[in-house]
Amino acid sequence: MVLDKLGSSLKETLKKIARSVFVDEKLIDELIKDIQKALLNADVNVQLVFDLTKEIKKRALDEKPPAGASQKEYIIKIVYEELVKFLGEEKSEIKIESKKPFKIMLLGLYGSGKTTTISKIAKYYSKRGYKIATMALDVHRAAAIDQLEQVSKQVNVACFSDRKEKDPVKIYNKFQDETRKYDLLLVDTAGRDVLSQDLIDEIKSLNESIKPDEVLLVINADIGQAARKQVEGFHNACKITGVIVTKIDGTAKGGGALTATAITGAKIKFIGIGEKQDDIEVFNPKGFVSRLLGMGDLELLLEKAQGIVKEEDAEELSNKLLKGDFNFIDLYNQMQAMKKMGPLNKILELMPGFGSMNIPKEMLDVQDEKLKKWKYIMDSCTKEELEDPDIIDNSRVERLAKGSGYSPSAVRDLLKHHKQSKKLMKLMKGKDPSKIMQKFSKLKGFKF
Ligand code: GDP
Ligand code: MG
Repeated sequence: MVLDKLGSSLKETLKKIARSVFVDEKLIDELIKDIQKALLNADVNVQLVFDLTKEIKKRALDEKPPAGASQKEYIIKIVYEELVKFLGEEKSEIKIESKKPFKIMLLGLYGSGKTTTISKIAKYYSKRGYKIATMALDVHRAAAIDQLEQVSKQVNVACFSDRKEKDPVKIYNKFQDETRKYDLLLVDTAGRDVLSQDLIDEIKSLNESIKPDEVLLVINADIGQAARKQVEGFHNACKITGVIVTKIDGTAKGGGALTATAITGAKIKFIGIGEKQDDIEVFNPKGFVSRLLGMGDLELLLEKAQGIVKEEDAEELSNKLLKGDFNFIDLYNQMQAMKKMGPLNKILELMPGFGSMNIPKEMLDVQDEKLKKWKYIMDSCTKEELEDPDIIDNSRVERLAKGSGYSPSAVRDLLKHHKQSKKLMKLMKGKDPSKIMQKFSKLKGFKF
C-alpha cells in the first residue's frame, strides 16, 4: 500500500470513531489530534494540517447528519471529504487528442524518475491501443540514451535518438516528420542537480520548438514539503501543465510531497509507486483517500450517509442489467459488488425464483486471483471494447493478452464469463426490477 503508515494510523483513528458509543466534543478532539499526528508524521506542512483539522472539527460540531445516517458515519464522511479537498479533489487525467502525435514532455531534476516514468506511461497508453514513440533528448549523458532505448524496447515502443548530436532541438527537428506516424510522442529531457539557468534555457528552447501538449514535471516524493518550491520554481521558469510524483512507495514523506504539490494548484497527473513498469497510477484523489482510509466499503457508507442511492440511478442500473445490455464496465461493477456482498449464488438464493436456478458452477465461484487477472485485462481494453466486448475478435484477444501480460486463454476466459453473466442478466428479465434492486440494496450492509 502506498503511504502505509499514514494509511494505518488514519484507519485506526476512524475505527475508534466507529467503535465509540457516544460522539461528543471530547471524542472529536481526540480524532483531530490523531489525524494531526498521522499527517505530521507523513511530513505534511504544519499550517496545512492545522487548517484541515480546524475545518473537520468545525463541520463535525456544526453539521447534522442527514436522515438515515448516524453521526459517526457522518463524521467519517467529513474526514474523507476534507482529505480529498486537501489533495486537489478532481482527477485530472490527460486527454490524448488525435493529432499525431500528441506530445508529452517530461522535465525534472537528476534521478527524479523521468526515464523510468516515460516507460511506464508508454506501457500504460500502449495497453490502451495508442501507437507510441519516445525521444531521447537527455543529451548530456550517453548512458541516458542507452537507458531510454532499453526501456522503450522492453515496452515495445519506438525510440528516436541521435548519439552524435548534442543539441536537443536539432534532434527533435531531425525526427519531427517521422514522429507524425505515432499517436503519442514521449520526450525525455536532461535534468540537473538544481533548477539552474542553463536548464531553464534548454527547456525554454525545447518548449518553443516542440510545442508539447503537456509539459509534466517529475518530482521525487522523498523531497516532501520541498515539492512546493520545486513545483513553483519550474512553473515560473518553464510553464508546466502538470506534475508526476514518483517513488511514493519508498518514503514516509509522500503525504508532504502530494499536499505541497496540491497547494500550488498544479495538477498531479500520475503517481509512481514502484520500480516496475506497471507501477504507475492516474492520480485520483477520491480513490487515493478511500484506499488510504482502507475502506473498500467507504463508498457504500458514503452513499448511506448522503442518503443517495438515488431512485433514478437504481432504476437505470436495473434497466440496464435487465436489458441484457451488459458490457465489461457493468461486469466489472458486478465483480466489485460481489466482492463486497459475497458470492453470487448467495445473492441469488435470496431472490425469489433464482435460488433453484441452474447456474454454471464456475460462474459462481470466482476467485480473487481471477478477478485480479480480469481487472488487468480490462485495464488493457479500449473504451470501445469496454462498452461492447462482443467486438473483441481473435486479433484483439492477442493484443489484450500482450498488453495485460496474461495468456490469450485468460482473455477468452473473461470473455466467456462475460457472455454467461450477460445471459444470466437476460434471464432476470421479466422479474420486477425494483424488487431485485431492493434485495441488492439490503445486502449492502456496512461493516468495519
Ligand atoms: P531520471 O534521471 O529522472 O531519468 O530518473 P530515472 O528514471 O533514471 O530514475 C532514477 C531511479 O529512480 C531509478 O533507479 C528508478 O528505478 C527509480 N524510480 C523511478 N520511479 C520510481 C518509483 O515510482 N518508485 C521507486 N521505488 N523507484 C523509482
Ligand atoms: Mg533519465
